Amino acid sequence: MDANGLIERTVEKLGQPVVQWQFSNATLGFWAALLATIIKKLEVAVDEVRTMRETQVEERGAMEGVHGWCHRLYAFLHWKDGVVQILLTKTSLSKSFFLRNYHIALNTDGSDPDGFADLRAVPGESEGEQVLRHLKSIVAWHAASVDLLDGRFRHVAQNLAVGLVEATPNEPKPLTDEEVIQEYFRRYPRSSSPEERSFIEDSIRKNHKEAKFTGPTHAEATLMGLVNCCMKHDVQIEGFDILKQLIGPATLEKAIAVSRKCCWCCNRLGSLLGDFNLPGSHGVICSWRPPRAGVDLTVLRSLENDLWGEMQAVMDATIPEEL
Ligand SMILES: [Zn+2]
Repeated sequence: MDANGLIERTVEKLGQPVVQWQFSNATLGFWAALLATIIKKLEVAVDEVRTMRETQVEERGAMEGVHGWCHRLYAFLHWKDGVVQILLTKTSLSKSFFLRNYHIALNTDGSDPDGFADLRAVPGESEGEQVLRHLKSIVAWHAASVDLLDGRFRHVAQNLAVGLVEATPNEPKPLTDEEVIQEYFRRYPRSSSPEERSFIEDSIRKNHKEAKFTGPTHAEATLMGLVNCCMKHDVQIEGFDILKQLIGPATLEKAIAVSRKCCWCCNRLGSLLGDFNLPGSHGVICSWRPPRAGVDLTVLRSLENDLWGEMQAVMDATIPEEL
C-alpha cells in the first residue's frame, strides 16, 4: 500500500503487463478521496469560468478545464467496475453531499427552480442513488457525446446522424404586475368580495417579482419543436432537407431522450403536440421560453391557458375561507 492508501499490482494479460488497483474495505478511503478531488477540481474550474464570464474575459481556455474534469468524472462514474456506485450506495459517503436538504433551496431560491427540482429525491430512491443520479446528470453531455461518437457504438449504428442544435436567445419582456392582475380578472371574472380581490392582487404583486425574463428554452422543447416541424411537409425554411435527414427518424417514435425529468411546461407541451415520449416530469413550473420553431401559436395559447388554470387553482387553494 502506498502513502495514498492505494494497493496496486501488475498482472499479465494476453502477454502484456496490466496495472490493477485494489477496491476493498482497506482502500475505500483512497477511492472516496479520488472522487472528492475530481469534484473539487471541477468546482474550481467552474468558478474560474464564472469569474471570467462576470469580468467579460475570454473563457475558452477555462472551459477546457471544465470539460477535462467533467470527462474524468464521467470516466470514473461510468467505469464498468461500478466503484462510485458502491461508494455511494454501500457506504455512508453520500451523507456528505447534503442533497436531502435541497427542497429548502427550491422554496427559497428562485434562481434555477428547474435545476433544484431535479436534485430532489424521487420516491423510493436512497440517498446514495440520489447523489449518483445527480453526478451522472452533471456529466450527461459527456456521456451522450461518447455514446454517440465512440467508434464501438458507431459500428452497431452506422446510419446514426449526430447534429448540434443551437437555440438563438431572445429577450422577451415579462408582463408587469398590473398586466398580470388585469389578465387574471379578465379570465376569471367573479363576483368576489373586495377583500378577496385585494388578497389576489397582493398575492400576485408579492410573487410576480422578476423584472427581467430569465427563462431558457429547454433542450427537450426545442427538439419537440423540430420533430413536429419535420412531421409537416410544407415547411419553407433554409436547410430543411438537412434537418429532415437528422430529425426524420425521431418522428417514428416521437421519443426525446433527456438525462433528467422534464419541467411542467415541457411535459405539457409534449402532450399538446401529441403524446411525445418523455422521461416523466418533476412537475415544477419554472421560467420557460417557447421553442423558436415547430410549435403553432394555437398550441402555445393552449399551454398559456393551462398555466393560467394552474395559477387559478393555486390562488383558490390559498384564499382564506373568511374572505
Ligand atoms: Zn422543461
